[in-house]
Amino acid sequence: MAFQPLYDISVIEKPIKAALGNENTETTIAILEGIRLAMNNYCTFRMPIVLTDEAIERLGLNEDTDENPNPDEMVDPEHDFTLRTLHNDETNKDWLVAFTSEEESKKGPESAIYTVPLFDILPRVAGIDAVEGIVINPWGTAFTLRRSMIEEILRINNPESQIFFNLGDITTLECDAIVNAANERLTGGGGVDGAIHQVAGKRLNKACSELGGCKTGEAKITKGYDLKARYIIHTVGPVYKGKGDEASYLAECYLNSLNLAMEHNIHSIAFPAISTGAYKFPAEEAASIALDIASQWLELHSEYGMQVIFCCHDQDMLDIYQRVLSDMTKQMNPPDLQGPVDLALQIPKADE
Ligand code: ADP
Repeated sequence: MAFQPLYDISVIEKPIKAALGNENTETTIAILEGIRLAMNNYCTFRMPIVLTDEAIERLGLNEDTDENPNPDEMVDPEHDFTLRTLHNDETNKDWLVAFTSEEESKKGPESAIYTVPLFDILPRVAGIDAVEGIVINPWGTAFTLRRSMIEEILRINNPESQIFFNLGDITTLECDAIVNAANERLTGGGGVDGAIHQVAGKRLNKACSELGGCKTGEAKITKGYDLKARYIIHTVGPVYKGKGDEASYLAECYLNSLNLAMEHNIHSIAFPAISTGAYKFPAEEAASIALDIASQWLELHSEYGMQVIFCCHDQDMLDIYQRVLSDMTKQMNPPDLQGPVDLALQIPKADE
């Protein structure tokens, strides 16, 4: 199961189109909300750049053709290019340019393009006084995203909602809740289940025995007893047999645990890699599902503020989680270069 962000770049394009000829506060807010969602879903902007002579040579670019360089070649944003800017004579300040798609960037003269995630570029632009903002799709349905708007997007985006990683023993974590990869009888077993029961103490056995078991994919809650965590959420992962329905059961575990946590006003929750031990779920696929559900849930409940911690017992598991996450980011941010040519852009009028 591939990591599927909940939103794609159309979350910006649609409200911009809908606002055309009908610009008002409401349509602007819809656009800014689209940009916020796009930022949290690893969407990217295509930004025209000017490559240095050294970079052109190193990448083997031929300026006379539109030939793309080897896509494996990396460009170094620190040294290989500068972002193209448009100068606004009235304010004597610059605007950056961003396209939401290849189609949009091809509506005007071609340029070398750098593909950059919104979560990377927006905070940077917010910090540069000399830049007035970003003109999105200047040759199509141009939208001028002023720096003050970017600041507002970053201000309302809830930094309390985040995914973290931890390497070690989940029973040591000081958070509102830790999740137990339990069995259907909730009797305590081996692996992470055994470790949690051992540290939480006998009162946990008693509390679990009164819960009436827990079906695969469901989640139940008890106090944390002698743990540092206030609560334990017990969920039962699927035993992996390769039948095909395990992925949806595992997704249910994460979803039901997060929902139950919210019902109990829990704002930080640590998950082990459910089902990847005795239950033999392939680790990479399990990590994809865990990250997928957690990020979608955080997006849906962006107002709530939840810290999701993935607690990996060993370095191999941590590497897997981080690889799944970075593969996803890389897929969204490939170097994408064409021979540079000069842009002759007109600056759309900044919001009046
Ligand atoms: P399951 O039966 O759901 O597969 P296991 O406990 O056998 O559950 O394994 C689930 C994952 O928990 C495994 O990746 C294992 O390495 C990890 N694990 C085991 N002990 C701990 C612990 N104390 N803290 C965090 N993770 C643990």
